[in-house]
Amino acid sequence: MKTALIVGGSRGIGRAIALRLAEDGFDVWLTYRGNDAAAREAKALVEAKGRSCELLKFDVTDPAAVREALEARCEERPPDAMIYNSGIARDNLMVWMTQAEWDAVLRTNLDGFFHVTKAVLFPMLREKRGRIVAIASTSGRTGQAGQVNYSASKAGLIGAVKALAREVGKKNVLVNAVEPGVIDTEMTADLPAAEVKKMIPLGRYGRVEDVAEAVAFLCSERQAYVHGQVLGVNGGLAI
Ligand code: NDP
Repeated sequence: MKTALIVGGSRGIGRAIALRLAEDGFDVWLTYRGNDAAAREAKALVEAKGRSCELLKFDVTDPAAVREALEARCEERPPDAMIYNSGIARDNLMVWMTQAEWDAVLRTNLDGFFHVTKAVLFPMLREKRGRIVAIASTSGRTGQAGQVNYSASKAGLIGAVKALAREVGKKNVLVNAVEPGVIDTEMTADLPAAEVKKMIPLGRYGRVEDVAEAVAFLCSERQAYVHGQVLGVNGGLAI
């Protein structure tokens, strides 16, 4: 029996990852912040694939809430894979960016990774097995105007993944990041699609399933030597 903890699994890319890993035989612990209806729907979809799905509702920015939701269960049996997918954007040009926009993005996208990883890591090290995958973004590598906060958070996540990989590889805990480009989700619904597609060599937005496939590869037992890497899923947007 394998379990995947999918942090921010109720919608968009996270939901697609939950479904894809369910197909690979993972039972799912699916976390979300507030959208109960979306979470229930995701749970039903995972169960329809014949795997169990437990819903865990907490805010990743609240370290006490993360500990309460995860510590005891991970102590008892850590997940085989932890996917850190929760993330938000609060775009604004730097000159107009508010402290609240900066803080919200850094706390969700980067601090949350710290809080969740603290809960799962020691048990994974003890068991000498585990996969950690962080969902970063092309913006974290190339930078994106209007996204100083978001790009900083995702670049930070990539740095954290690389450093952590150096710490825990010897204990058979594999740590990687996936770097989606422009994916067809609520987050990108307001972009000028025709203009953006011109910048993508494959000429289309990515599908959530494209990202989920990369995560499934990184979590697969068949792959055991990709470690400390950043896998771009961006249709060639950044090469
Ligand atoms: P969605 O907004 O569709 O889903 C975000 C998920 O994260 C939801 O499950 C949401 O829960 C959860 N979440 C958000 N904030 C918190 C919080 N404070 N505490 C706990 N859970 C939280 O996002 P996408 O599918 O568009 O993006 C997923 C990831 O991929 C993000 O990290 C994003 O930065 C990254 N990405 C997305 C791209 C895109 O084109 N969409 C491109 C590159 C990277 P709830 O449903 O309760 O709100």
